[in-house]
Amino acid sequence: MLKILDATLREGEQTPGVYFDGHIKLAIADLLDEIGISIIEAGHPMVTQEIHDAVKQLSGHGLRAKVGAHSRSLKQDIDLALQCNVDFLGIFYCVSEARLNHVFKKDIYTAIDQIASVIEYAKQNKPGLLIRYTPEDTVRSPFQNVVDAAAAAVNAGADIISIADTTGFMIPGTENNFYDYVSRLKETLAAKGLSPMIAVHCHNDRGYALTNAIDGFRAGAEIIDATVLGLGERAGIVDLAQLAVTLKNDFTVENKWDLSKLPELYHLVSNYSGIPIPANFPIIGDNAFTHCAGVHSHAAVKNPTHYQSLDPQIIGRKMSVSLDHMSGISSIEWALEKLSIDADKPLIEQILKHVKSIGQKGRRVDLSELKHIVDWCKKTVVA
Ligand SMILES: [Zn+2]
Repeated sequence: MLKILDATLREGEQTPGVYFDGHIKLAIADLLDEIGISIIEAGHPMVTQEIHDAVKQLSGHGLRAKVGAHSRSLKQDIDLALQCNVDFLGIFYCVSEARLNHVFKKDIYTAIDQIASVIEYAKQNKPGLLIRYTPEDTVRSPFQNVVDAAAAAVNAGADIISIADTTGFMIPGTENNFYDYVSRLKETLAAKGLSPMIAVHCHNDRGYALTNAIDGFRAGAEIIDATVLGLGERAGIVDLAQLAVTLKNDFTVENKWDLSKLPELYHLVSNYSGIPIPANFPIIGDNAFTHCAGVHSHAAVKNPTHYQSLDPQIIGRKMSVSLDHMSGISSIEWALEKLSIDADKPLIEQILKHVKSIGQKGRRVDLSELKHIVDWCKKTVVA
């Protein structure tokens, strides 16, 4: 069954200026668990004592999800993760000669030995530990190095190989596309008798993170990384709500997800990250299911599918109609019905005129203000 790995507490904290206190991390993890996320990446314990303590707290919190730590390919990082008693360990190390030579001053053979030895060490210390190895910047690294490192990692005990598009480099439809990459790596490892689970970690630098992740899934990836609001380094990674809704609604993947908890989760993360949810953000944004233009509203009120390809009920939301300069008679009728107010045609026309004049000042009318407008217009019409 496809697994979603949520990295809001790890990758999400790599958003400039974002840090979640321990009690907020716990609240986020609880909601992720209620939604039914399989793996929660809780942090990199080496970074600070606070993160170490939070990872440990979450591990002992009795969540259904596997709680994981991030780790460099170093025994000291593994020891800290093991101290936190995590179920899942994500170990990363680059495999490009350019970076190995310039940053780490070592060759690929030494790097692969190091990767294999820390994985063996981790597995020996906790045999049930689910271990993921990520060749950092996988897709821009020499393919043979990726294969050699992945094979050594699996032989040393890694369960998962993560294909990381660390810089958002892959573009669907070009020779650098995720579907072909995942297929080729799976086939190459299979030819060596190795069949690890494949995870995909897609950055959104060019805006293709979700499309690439779906391409990876179509090619056989079994784990997809995401974060709330797509938080993460630079332009972030795959957005959790967009991923989960697409997989459930359009790919009908087997799942036990309760996506109605997503709005609460997004507002919690937005409040404590200081990253606002754009009004036009897909699925979660205030406007995602709100119809504006009179023609649209007229049709959507009769049948929302005229202008919606997704039922907002999937995340517990409802369609709505904006009351502003674009409104038409149908918009007002829709709103009056919500308020259980009867009005004749002259009154509705008067209300519409009033709403439009407010909308032209760049403001929307909500239902509570509409009540006052109705009262005002009743007097005006009678007079
Ligand atoms: Zn990342």
